[in-house]
Amino acid sequence: MFGKLIFFVIIGLLVYWFIKSRQPEDTETDSPPEAIEDMVRCTHCGVHLPKSESIASEDMFFCCDEHRHQHIEPSE
Ligand SMILES: [Zn+2]
Repeated sequence: MFGKLIFFVIIGLLVYWFIKSRQPEDTETDSPPEAIEDMVRCTHCGVHLPKSESIASEDMFFCCDEHRHQHIEPSE
């Protein structure tokens, strides 16, 4: 009778340990803050866009290669 009780206690502890070991640790998954990118303005059309997506030409930024060409080499 008493042996059975200890047996169930051990089983309970094993189950408890098993469940606990399987559970992922509560880790605060703070997403890193988005890097605030420099915003530049297309010299040709004035649209704002991230610097990494812009096309830099000398001291000017453009939203696309077409605008860069239109601004630097204006078509007649
Ligand atoms: Zn533009």
